[in-house]
Amino acid sequence: MKLGLSEIDYRSLFDNMIDGLAYCKMIFDADGLPADFIYITVNENFEKLTGLKEAEGKKVTELIPGIRASNSELFEIYGKVSLTGKPEKFETYVQPLGRWFSISVYSPKKNFFVAVFQNITDRKEIEKDLESAKTAARNVLKDLEIEKKKIAETSAKEEAILAGIADGCIAVNEKGEIILINQTAQKMLGYTQEESIGKLWHEILHREDESGNPISPEKGAIRAALSTTTTTTTTTTTTTSSFYLRKDRTKFPISRTVSPIILEGKVIGAVNIFRDITREKEIDREKSEFVSLASHQLRTPLTGIEWTIELFSKKEKLTEEGRKYLDYIHYSAVRLSNLIKLLLNVSRIESSSMSVVSKPLDLVELINENMREHQALCDRGKISFIFSKHPQKLIATTDKNLIGYIIQNLVSNAINYTPTGGKVEMLLEEKKDSLQFRVQDTGIGIPKKEQEHIFKKFARASNASIVKPDGTGLGLYIASEAAKLLGGKIWFESDEGKGSTFFVQLPLMSPDRAGNKELVLEPK
Ligand code: ADP
Repeated sequence: MKLGLSEIDYRSLFDNMIDGLAYCKMIFDADGLPADFIYITVNENFEKLTGLKEAEGKKVTELIPGIRASNSELFEIYGKVSLTGKPEKFETYVQPLGRWFSISVYSPKKNFFVAVFQNITDRKEIEKDLESAKTAARNVLKDLEIEKKKIAETSAKEEAILAGIADGCIAVNEKGEIILINQTAQKMLGYTQEESIGKLWHEILHREDESGNPISPEKGAIRAALSTTTTTTTTTTTTTSSFYLRKDRTKFPISRTVSPIILEGKVIGAVNIFRDITREKEIDREKSEFVSLASHQLRTPLTGIEWTIELFSKKEKLTEEGRKYLDYIHYSAVRLSNLIKLLLNVSRIESSSMSVVSKPLDLVELINENMREHQALCDRGKISFIFSKHPQKLIATTDKNLIGYIIQNLVSNAINYTPTGGKVEMLLEEKKDSLQFRVQDTGIGIPKKEQEHIFKKFARASNASIVKPDGTGLGLYIASEAAKLLGGKIWFESDEGKGSTFFVQLPLMSPDRAGNKELVLEPK
């Protein structure tokens, strides 16, 4: 090709271009459609950028077989530019070369065109990577959105559950600020969610004891739960009577359970689940009243029966068989009478309206008295019975009837559950602010797996019935409740077949309790 005088200059210019350059002639078919083009001149970078060698003088269809099918737009655009003279700029992927190009085309004269191009494959790769990254990010966002929706659904479900439960539920954070109050709690207390959230729990929850004295939040279970160290995690269920005050200052009795919320070993708050037990208390009171009434009504005819049997056995001449039957009737009547006594005791100890009155008394004397009463029983069973270790005197301010019941019950059990020839030993000692009374026996003991239930109502160990068929399993329950009323406790250690030791620990000064009738327990 002739470029005139400045050909050398042009050449050097072309060859020094970073872009690729091709000067071509367009070939049209019989219908005037662009069919092919011939490379007339290419610059030095052409080969580098396309990978095509010795292009000059060759048709593109020869040089790049398959180009017509893969890149028909090249022919269209080049044809149009070489006919119209209007320059174009475009990007395309030349599949047979596996490269992307950005191409500018113009036409210096009709049927000829110049293509100036850059290999943009790397940029396209980056763009592709960027696009994949964008798609991935979009997917992650979409996943996040789904997760968010799921969490929202779960928390809506949890809220619905919380709203639906019949118990009040209040959760606080580690600072004691309310973070959740369910609908039941709002209804029970008369505070709305808006009034409660963010407040300290004791601004909403005011607790009082049976006598109407406010209970300090510092002494409560929520404070305890928040001060929990993870090694001493506890759930506190409040069983003693207490009341919550509503916003309008009326009150209702509650039963509640408070647990710390622990996350990764740290206490991050506490949950308080509570319920209004007005109805339960009423039922309890009605039950106690019924038992008390029924027991009284049952006792009168029973005393009549016992009295008649006695008279009958004294006055009438009876055959040996007749006497056996009468003895059995008598034994059953006594058993029934004892059971009624115990049921009366249970109903009395469970009734919170009875008073407990403490007065100073000498426990050494009380135990000695008790010992005299049991001596005959011990003699009969050839049981050695001793009050071994005790101070000269031990004065405690306590309720005589209740402590008397405890001693009598433990001592009679020890004697009853110790076979002939055994030993029952009593000990009394003064500790710091308390006294400890101990009854030790060499009896049948209590099987390990039954020990945890032994203070429950009607609980009897499997080995007890053989030794004492007429037991009721009520004595220990009453005794342990009596000890609790006096501010103390009862526990035991026992080995089956070897013996048992029952311990009673009581304060030297028992608390009094106000009531409308004195609580009196009848001895077993
Ligand atoms: P009861 O003696 O009328 O069955 P208690 O409530 O006094 O009722 O005792 C409950 C159960 O505890 C007894 O049935 C017996 O199984 C066990 N128990 C109590 N004291 C002793 C004891 N000293 N030795 C062995 N078992 C005992």
